[in-house]
Amino acid sequence: MNFKITLLPGDGIGPEVVGEAVRVLETIAGKYKHSFDFQERLMGGCSIDKYGSSLTDETLADCVASDSVLLGAVGGPKWDDPNAKDRPERGLLALRKGLGVFANLRPVKVHPALVDGSPLKPEKLQGVDILVLRELTGGLYFGFPKGRDVKDGRERAVDTLEYYDYEIKRIMKLAFELAKGRKKKVTSVDKANVLESSRLWRQIATQVGKENPDVELEHVLVDTASMRLITGPAWMDVVVTENMFGDILTDEASVLAGSMGMLPSASLGESTVGLYEPIHGSAPDIAGKGIANPIGTILSTAMMLRHSLKLEAEAASIEKAVDAVITAGARTADIGGKLSTRQMADEIIKHIGE
Ligand code: NAD
Repeated sequence: MNFKITLLPGDGIGPEVVGEAVRVLETIAGKYKHSFDFQERLMGGCSIDKYGSSLTDETLADCVASDSVLLGAVGGPKWDDPNAKDRPERGLLALRKGLGVFANLRPVKVHPALVDGSPLKPEKLQGVDILVLRELTGGLYFGFPKGRDVKDGRERAVDTLEYYDYEIKRIMKLAFELAKGRKKKVTSVDKANVLESSRLWRQIATQVGKENPDVELEHVLVDTASMRLITGPAWMDVVVTENMFGDILTDEASVLAGSMGMLPSASLGESTVGLYEPIHGSAPDIAGKGIANPIGTILSTAMMLRHSLKLEAEAASIEKAVDAVITAGARTADIGGKLSTRQMADEIIKHIGE
């Protein structure tokens, strides 16, 4: 089969890890007789430098017209001025909006051979296999009114936490669908004891739960969820939550795996064009050294094959290859080894299709 994939390597280590992920996809194409047509575009700081815009209309149109999009990372000290006209993160928000993606999926698994790299005690990490779904389009980051003013002689700042029923319903449905292919359990995280938006969230979660009686649903307050992620992460399977809670909980969950460099993500919407990216940033401290861990990006391509291109066997073969090399002791610096970005990818490529 023939697929068009837009690559947005971005800034810092982005191009290094995306380059290796492309080699893995080319290996998949060869072994499974597919053809991937890659088109590379600028996004983030590099796009500001060249075009004066973090995401041009042309690049967005190319992304929308492709089968899926693979992103490295954007940002870095060069573009950090808070008063700048455009910033790399704006491109990311515009890209998510333009692609219509509303759910960010972050699987967090702890490889048994890497438990020592995690700050948690090994016994707490037994069987950890969580899929967090974070809502991407609503909540505090987008609600109006928003801004600063002076009221009654006092400086004031306002953000608005707003959710529509349809925004909650569509991500809840996705969470239940995904739970059916896993342990048939959904944990919906909210703050329904205090927030009106969370009471609507809980109401809709309950409705969707009734439509899916084969999946167990539990409601957990966000403060309890954040504690349980550390005290007993193995009890969680599919976790679904609103934008800001998800932002915080997904970073907390990523710590379990020992290194940011290990974890992939997928952002999905109604269309099959998904956005796939590692969870880490552009890591300016190690950019250009060739030592970044490419596994988060390589596993993101597995998510792309599964969710956008519907190539399950190919996705599983990448995941098995990563599993095998970690078991065999292959390590980049962030997980206690000496392999370069390229060498780690070489090891993974050797195991593909075994
Ligand atoms: P970061 O994720 O870039 O780095 C945090 C730490 O993890 C650093 O020590 C880094 O060296 C290490 N690290 C990250 N990825 C790694 C990998 N693949 N292999 C080995 N080590 C890795 O976060 P930060 O330092 O807070 O942010 C740096 C820049 O990235 C900022 O400009 C930030 O805005 C941006 N950022 C972008 C995204 C994105 O593009 N989605 C996400 C987060 C941060």
